Amino acid sequence: MEKQRIVVKVGTSTLTGESGALNFRTIDKLAQVLSSVHNDGNQVVLVSSGAIAVGVNKMRLPIKPQNVSMKQAAAAVGQCELMHIYDKCFGEYGNIVGQILLTAEDIAVKEKRRNLKNTFEALLENGMIPIVNENDSVSHAEIESEKKIFGDNDMLSAIVAKLCEADRLIVLSDIEGLYNGNPKERSDVQLIHTVEEITDELKELAAGSGSNRGTGGMITKLEAAEYATLHGMDMHIALGNDPENIYRIMEGEAVGTHFIKRY
Ligand code: GLU
Repeated sequence: MEKQRIVVKVGTSTLTGESGALNFRTIDKLAQVLSSVHNDGNQVVLVSSGAIAVGVNKMRLPIKPQNVSMKQAAAAVGQCELMHIYDKCFGEYGNIVGQILLTAEDIAVKEKRRNLKNTFEALLENGMIPIVNENDSVSHAEIESEKKIFGDNDMLSAIVAKLCEADRLIVLSDIEGLYNGNPKERSDVQLIHTVEEITDELKELAAGSGSNRGTGGMITKLEAAEYATLHGMDMHIALGNDPENIYRIMEGEAVGTHFIKRY
Protein backbone atom coordinates (compact mmCIF):
# COMPACT_ATOMS: atom_id res chain seq x y z
CA MET A 1 0.00 0.00 0.00
CA GLU A 2 1.20 3.49 -0.83
CA LYS A 3 2.54 5.39 2.17
CA GLN A 4 0.32 8.23 3.25
CA ARG A 5 0.38 11.34 5.35
CA ILE A 6 -2.78 11.33 7.43
CA VAL A 7 -4.37 13.72 9.90
CA VAL A 8 -6.64 12.14 12.51
CA LYS A 9 -8.98 14.32 14.56
CA VAL A 10 -10.45 13.00 17.76
CA GLY A 11 -13.20 14.77 19.65
CA THR A 12 -13.89 15.35 23.33
CA SER A 13 -16.77 12.87 23.35
CA THR A 14 -14.45 10.06 22.24
CA LEU A 15 -11.64 10.91 24.64
CA THR A 16 -13.65 11.48 27.78
CA GLY A 17 -16.57 9.97 29.63
CA GLU A 18 -19.65 11.87 30.82
CA SER A 19 -17.74 13.35 33.77
CA GLY A 20 -14.89 14.57 31.58
CA ALA A 21 -12.53 11.95 32.98
CA LEU A 22 -10.19 10.49 30.39
CA ASN A 23 -11.25 7.32 28.63
CA PHE A 24 -7.92 5.50 28.96
CA ARG A 25 -9.06 2.48 27.04
CA THR A 26 -9.81 4.49 23.89
CA ILE A 27 -6.75 6.70 24.25
CA ASP A 28 -4.43 3.73 24.63
CA LYS A 29 -6.01 1.99 21.64
CA LEU A 30 -5.74 5.18 19.60
CA ALA A 31 -2.04 5.46 20.47
CA GLN A 32 -1.53 1.80 19.56
CA VAL A 33 -3.31 2.09 16.19
CA LEU A 34 -1.62 5.36 15.23
CA SER A 35 1.77 3.99 16.27
CA SER A 36 1.19 0.97 14.12
CA VAL A 37 0.09 3.08 11.14
CA HIS A 38 3.20 5.20 11.70
CA ASN A 39 5.48 2.16 11.99
CA ASP A 40 4.14 0.95 8.65
CA GLY A 41 5.84 3.97 7.09
CA ASN A 42 2.97 6.46 7.10
CA GLN A 43 3.17 9.91 8.63
CA VAL A 44 0.60 10.77 11.25
CA VAL A 45 -0.69 14.04 12.76
CA LEU A 46 -3.21 13.86 15.60
CA VAL A 47 -5.58 16.78 16.24
CA SER A 48 -6.99 16.27 19.70
CA SER A 49 -9.75 18.09 21.53
CA GLY A 50 -10.58 17.39 25.15
CA ALA A 51 -8.50 20.00 26.96
CA ILE A 52 -11.43 21.87 28.49
CA ALA A 53 -13.40 18.79 29.53
CA VAL A 54 -10.35 17.16 31.08
CA GLY A 55 -9.42 20.41 32.86
CA VAL A 56 -12.94 20.84 34.24
CA ASN A 57 -12.76 17.32 35.63
CA LYS A 58 -9.26 17.71 37.04
CA MET A 59 -10.07 21.07 38.68
CA ARG A 60 -13.15 19.43 40.17
CA LEU A 61 -15.42 22.13 38.82
CA PRO A 62 -19.04 21.10 39.25
CA ILE A 63 -20.01 21.97 35.65
CA LYS A 64 -18.37 23.31 32.51
CA PRO A 65 -17.92 27.03 33.23
CA GLN A 66 -19.69 29.63 31.08
CA ASN A 67 -17.07 32.25 31.72
CA VAL A 68 -14.36 32.45 29.01
CA SER A 69 -11.38 32.89 31.33
CA MET A 70 -12.43 29.88 33.41
CA LYS A 71 -12.75 27.81 30.23
CA GLN A 72 -9.30 28.99 29.25
CA ALA A 73 -7.97 28.07 32.70
CA ALA A 74 -9.54 24.63 32.37
CA ALA A 75 -7.94 24.25 28.92
CA ALA A 76 -4.53 25.10 30.41
CA VAL A 77 -4.89 22.39 33.06
CA GLY A 78 -6.51 19.84 30.76
CA GLN A 79 -4.06 20.27 27.90
CA CYS A 80 -1.23 19.42 30.26
CA GLU A 81 -2.97 16.28 31.44
CA LEU A 82 -3.87 15.25 27.88
CA MET A 83 -0.29 15.57 26.65
CA HIS A 84 1.01 13.74 29.68
CA ILE A 85 -1.18 10.76 28.81
CA TYR A 86 -0.44 10.89 25.09
CA ASP A 87 3.28 11.10 25.76
CA LYS A 88 3.01 8.05 27.99
CA CYS A 89 0.77 5.98 25.70
CA PHE A 90 2.65 6.71 22.46
CA GLY A 91 5.90 6.19 24.37
CA GLU A 92 4.74 2.68 25.30
CA TYR A 93 4.60 1.91 21.58
CA GLY A 94 8.02 3.43 20.93
CA ASN A 95 6.85 6.69 19.41
CA ILE A 96 7.57 10.31 20.22
CA VAL A 97 4.97 13.05 20.21
CA GLY A 98 5.33 16.83 19.95
CA GLN A 99 2.70 19.35 21.00
CA ILE A 100 1.55 22.10 18.63
CA LEU A 101 -0.99 24.61 19.93
CA LEU A 102 -2.20 27.14 17.44
CA THR A 103 -4.60 29.99 16.91
CA ALA A 104 -6.34 31.29 13.80
CA GLU A 105 -3.77 34.08 13.63
CA ASP A 106 -0.95 31.55 13.28
CA ILE A 107 -2.57 30.36 10.07
CA ALA A 108 -3.68 33.74 8.76
CA VAL A 109 -0.32 35.52 9.05
CA LYS A 110 1.97 34.38 6.23
CA GLU A 111 5.20 34.28 8.21
CA LYS A 112 3.65 32.46 11.15
CA ARG A 113 2.02 29.99 8.76
CA ARG A 114 5.39 29.32 7.11
CA ASN A 115 7.04 28.71 10.49
CA LEU A 116 4.25 26.38 11.49
CA LYS A 117 4.49 24.45 8.24
CA ASN A 118 8.25 24.09 8.68
CA THR A 119 7.78 22.79 12.22
CA PHE A 120 5.27 20.17 11.04
CA GLU A 121 7.66 19.11 8.26
CA ALA A 122 10.61 18.86 10.63
CA LEU A 123 8.61 16.78 13.11
CA LEU A 124 7.17 14.46 10.45
CA GLU A 125 10.43 14.05 8.56
CA ASN A 126 12.08 13.05 11.83
CA GLY A 127 9.49 10.41 12.60
CA MET A 128 7.63 12.29 15.34
CA ILE A 129 3.88 12.43 15.80
CA PRO A 130 2.62 16.02 16.15
CA ILE A 131 -0.40 16.41 18.44
CA VAL A 132 -2.36 19.58 17.75
CA ASN A 133 -5.04 21.55 19.55
CA GLU A 134 -6.24 25.11 19.37
CA ASN A 135 -4.34 27.26 21.86
CA ASP A 136 -7.51 27.79 23.87
CA SER A 137 -5.79 29.63 26.69
CA VAL A 138 -4.76 32.50 24.44
CA SER A 139 -7.49 32.35 21.85
CA HIS A 140 -11.14 31.82 22.33
CA ALA A 141 -12.08 31.83 18.66
CA GLU A 142 -13.25 28.27 18.92
CA ILE A 143 -14.68 28.10 22.37
CA GLU A 144 -16.60 31.36 22.46
CA SER A 145 -16.43 33.81 19.61
CA GLU A 146 -19.57 34.82 17.76
CA LYS A 147 -17.72 34.91 14.48
CA LYS A 148 -15.88 31.66 14.82
CA ILE A 149 -12.75 31.35 12.75
CA PHE A 150 -11.85 27.74 13.18
CA GLY A 151 -15.44 26.90 14.12
CA ASP A 152 -14.07 24.08 16.22
CA ASN A 153 -11.39 21.43 15.98
CA ASP A 154 -13.19 19.93 12.97
CA MET A 155 -12.26 22.93 10.84
CA LEU A 156 -8.90 23.21 12.59
CA SER A 157 -8.12 19.64 11.56
CA ALA A 158 -8.97 20.39 7.91
CA ILE A 159 -6.76 23.49 7.98
CA VAL A 160 -3.91 21.51 9.55
CA ALA A 161 -4.39 18.77 6.93
CA LYS A 162 -4.03 21.32 4.14
CA LEU A 163 -1.04 22.97 5.80
CA CYS A 164 0.68 19.58 6.04
CA GLU A 165 -0.43 18.63 2.52
CA ALA A 166 -1.96 15.46 3.93
CA ASP A 167 -3.49 12.77 1.75
CA ARG A 168 -6.39 12.06 4.07
CA LEU A 169 -8.26 13.49 7.04
CA ILE A 170 -10.03 11.10 9.41
CA VAL A 171 -12.47 12.64 11.89
CA LEU A 172 -13.27 10.28 14.76
CA SER A 173 -16.50 11.10 16.51
CA ASP A 174 -19.30 9.69 18.65
CA ILE A 175 -21.42 9.45 15.52
CA GLU A 176 -20.75 6.93 12.77
CA GLY A 177 -21.07 9.38 9.92
CA LEU A 178 -23.61 11.39 7.99
CA TYR A 179 -27.13 9.97 7.87
CA ASN A 180 -29.99 10.74 5.53
CA GLY A 181 -31.96 12.04 8.52
CA ASN A 182 -31.48 12.69 12.22
CA PRO A 183 -30.58 9.36 13.89
CA LYS A 184 -31.57 10.77 17.29
CA GLU A 185 -35.12 11.39 16.12
CA ARG A 186 -35.76 8.57 13.68
CA SER A 187 -34.77 4.94 13.69
CA ASP A 188 -35.19 4.33 9.95
CA VAL A 189 -32.35 6.61 8.84
CA GLN A 190 -29.46 5.25 6.83
CA LEU A 191 -25.78 6.03 6.85
CA ILE A 192 -24.49 7.77 3.74
CA HIS A 193 -21.34 5.82 2.84
CA THR A 194 -19.94 8.03 0.12
CA VAL A 195 -20.30 11.73 -0.63
CA GLU A 196 -19.04 13.04 -3.95
CA GLU A 197 -20.34 16.57 -3.63
CA ILE A 198 -21.41 18.61 -0.62
CA THR A 199 -24.72 20.07 -1.69
CA ASP A 200 -27.04 22.51 0.12
CA GLU A 201 -29.36 19.58 0.72
CA LEU A 202 -26.60 17.72 2.59
CA LYS A 203 -25.87 20.81 4.65
CA GLU A 204 -29.52 20.97 5.67
CA LEU A 205 -29.39 17.33 6.67
CA ALA A 206 -26.27 17.94 8.74
CA ALA A 207 -27.77 20.95 10.49
CA GLY A 208 -30.27 18.65 12.16
CA SER A 209 -27.83 16.17 13.68
CA GLY A 210 -24.70 16.23 15.74
CA SER A 211 -22.50 14.64 18.31
CA ASN A 212 -23.34 14.61 22.00
CA ARG A 213 -20.50 16.49 23.65
CA GLY A 214 -17.74 18.83 22.52
CA THR A 215 -18.37 22.03 20.64
CA GLY A 216 -18.87 20.62 17.16
CA GLY A 217 -21.69 18.86 15.44
CA MET A 218 -22.34 17.41 12.01
CA ILE A 219 -22.50 20.80 10.33
CA THR A 220 -18.93 21.67 11.35
CA LYS A 221 -17.81 18.26 10.09
CA LEU A 222 -19.44 18.96 6.77
CA GLU A 223 -17.74 22.35 6.57
CA ALA A 224 -14.42 20.65 7.29
CA ALA A 225 -15.21 18.03 4.63
CA GLU A 226 -15.98 20.76 2.10
CA TYR A 227 -12.69 22.48 2.83
CA ALA A 228 -10.69 19.25 2.74
CA THR A 229 -12.21 17.85 -0.45
CA LEU A 230 -11.85 21.18 -2.26
CA HIS A 231 -8.18 21.16 -1.30
CA GLY A 232 -7.49 17.74 -2.75
CA MET A 233 -7.91 15.53 0.32
CA ASP A 234 -10.28 12.70 1.11
CA MET A 235 -12.09 13.01 4.42
CA HIS A 236 -13.76 10.35 6.54
CA ILE A 237 -16.05 10.47 9.55
CA ALA A 238 -16.03 7.31 11.66
CA LEU A 239 -16.81 6.13 15.16
CA GLY A 240 -13.98 6.95 17.52
CA ASN A 241 -14.79 4.36 20.17
CA ASP A 242 -13.14 1.82 17.88
CA PRO A 243 -9.84 3.38 16.76
CA GLU A 244 -9.24 0.30 14.58
CA ASN A 245 -11.57 2.06 12.16
CA ILE A 246 -8.41 3.92 11.13
CA TYR A 247 -6.88 0.65 9.81
CA ARG A 248 -10.10 -0.15 7.98
CA ILE A 249 -10.22 3.25 6.33
CA MET A 250 -6.60 3.02 5.26
CA GLU A 251 -7.25 -0.41 3.79
CA GLY A 252 -10.11 1.00 1.72
CA GLU A 253 -12.99 -0.60 3.65
CA ALA A 254 -16.32 1.22 3.68
CA VAL A 255 -16.41 2.62 7.21
CA GLY A 256 -18.49 5.63 8.25
CA THR A 257 -18.85 8.35 5.64
CA HIS A 258 -16.21 8.94 2.98
CA PHE A 259 -16.09 12.37 1.36
CA ILE A 260 -14.24 12.07 -1.91
CA LYS A 261 -11.73 14.72 -2.91
CA ARG A 262 -12.85 16.96 -5.74
CA TYR A 263 -9.70 16.63 -7.83
N1 GLU B 1 -10.06 22.94 21.84
C1 GLU B 1 -11.16 22.48 22.66
C2 GLU B 1 -10.63 21.54 23.73
O1 GLU B 1 -9.59 20.97 23.57
C3 GLU B 1 -12.14 21.76 21.77
C4 GLU B 1 -13.46 21.52 22.40
C5 GLU B 1 -14.28 20.55 21.57
O2 GLU B 1 -14.54 20.80 20.39
O3 GLU B 1 -14.63 19.51 22.10
O4 GLU B 1 -11.26 21.41 24.74
